[in-house]
Amino acid sequence: MTDTLGQDGSVYLTLKAHDVPELEIARLGQALAGVFDAKRESQPGDVIVMVLDSLRTVLRFEYTPLRRPELPVLIERLGDDLHARRDSLELTKRTWAIEVVIEDNLANAISDAGEGDFLTDFVVDYVFGSVIDFHRDPRRGDRLGLVFTRLYLDDRFIRYGKVLLARYEGQVVSELGVLYEDPTGLAGYYDEGGTSLERMFLLKPMEFRRISSRFNRRRFHPILKRNVPHLGTDYAAAAGTDVWATARGRVTVAGWNGGYGKMVEVEHPNGYHTRYAHLSRVRVRKGQRVHKRDVVGQVGATGRATGPHLHYELIHNGSQIDPSTVNRGDEAPVLPAAYREAFERDRRYREELLDDARRAPPKVLADAAQRRPTAR
Ligand SMILES: [Zn+2]
Repeated sequence: MTDTLGQDGSVYLTLKAHDVPELEIARLGQALAGVFDAKRESQPGDVIVMVLDSLRTVLRFEYTPLRRPELPVLIERLGDDLHARRDSLELTKRTWAIEVVIEDNLANAISDAGEGDFLTDFVVDYVFGSVIDFHRDPRRGDRLGLVFTRLYLDDRFIRYGKVLLARYEGQVVSELGVLYEDPTGLAGYYDEGGTSLERMFLLKPMEFRRISSRFNRRRFHPILKRNVPHLGTDYAAAAGTDVWATARGRVTVAGWNGGYGKMVEVEHPNGYHTRYAHLSRVRVRKGQRVHKRDVVGQVGATGRATGPHLHYELIHNGSQIDPSTVNRGDEAPVLPAAYREAFERDRRYREELLDDARRAPPKVLADAAQRRPTAR
């Protein structure tokens, strides 16, 4: 029989549903535990294929994780013993190049090209997370080119591999990000001059696709009912959305703080502080060190807030500043001279792939044409 794990993601309940006796489940569980951490790895949709005899004894048990199907588990009965092993199948890597033109927003452009949200999140939050403000800078007609790898198991797409190059060409901002992994295994994204795209701060404290709104010095306060300077940025997002520390630092406040509700304040190097307010949950303790992009809490509506949103403040030497300007003039590391030639080779090759993709007819359009029924 074949079955998939239900919403509970429980191997035990799935076996139970097929009348496998308790003792047999216990033995199977023991064999499984040797090669597979069910608590951490199992999830709804994982596939189980079993061969049972008439006494519901398990003769053979195959377990394929939905997210990592290249690492299946096989348990076989040999006499009275159950033998478990974990395979590691090789995924085939294919390099793709696409170029999208932005109509309303980047996420839609990428999805219209038939690609997944992973690419949007990765490019916006990671590759360009410190250098392009995707809420403010994009304009209709801007282009984003991407070279990336897709991973397959027997011709079945499993997941994305790496983003090798991202090229944003816009009216307000243009940036190139090329992945370079040095011989020691250190990887990062660099522009055409070999300058890293990493900066001290992320421009946003959470995933781009989940948010709206911005810094505003004057606005009508919905609860105080008068114009008050609003020295922060409000990000409307669903309650429970993860909030990131925008730079490394040390937590100085973690808990209730009047109108701010549940909040976190982080002290960063060079006279900077950040505040994350109205949280539903605080996920750090006072005194704790955090890295850039560590989750410090979750979006909520605690304190003086009308609905779930994050109130984010960036403070420099005691006064609030516009977070989208924070990295200006920040000096970024440059790729060492020893790696420049290899980097240049990678960059040129990948940009050529992208130029080919621009010249070729868009892939989605070609697919759509094939799907159209032939006229009679
Ligand atoms: Zn606010």
